[in-house]
Amino acid sequence: MLLPEVNSVIDAAYYALVRFMAINTGALEDWGGKTTIAFCEGCGRAYIKRGNRQKYCGNRECEAIRNSRKSSRYYYKEKGKA
Ligand SMILES: [Zn+2]
Repeated sequence: MLLPEVNSVIDAAYYALVRFMAINTGALEDWGGKTTIAFCEGCGRAYIKRGNRQKYCGNRECEAIRNSRKSSRYYYKEKGKA
């Protein structure tokens, strides 16, 4: 089990790395400096958030997770009604 201190150091390093890569690829310029780094709920990697409600990076795998979670939420909601 990792200590919280270790996790935050890794997170900080990862943030710096992602930010560096994003600057290099010009991704930050796409939307006027309003850049948020978030961690994907699917794979746990940092990504550049493109909307307040975005919880996943753009990977296909994570899109699939997002879609399946969405439908399972729907399923439970419907089940609860019955
Ligand atoms: Zn992801």
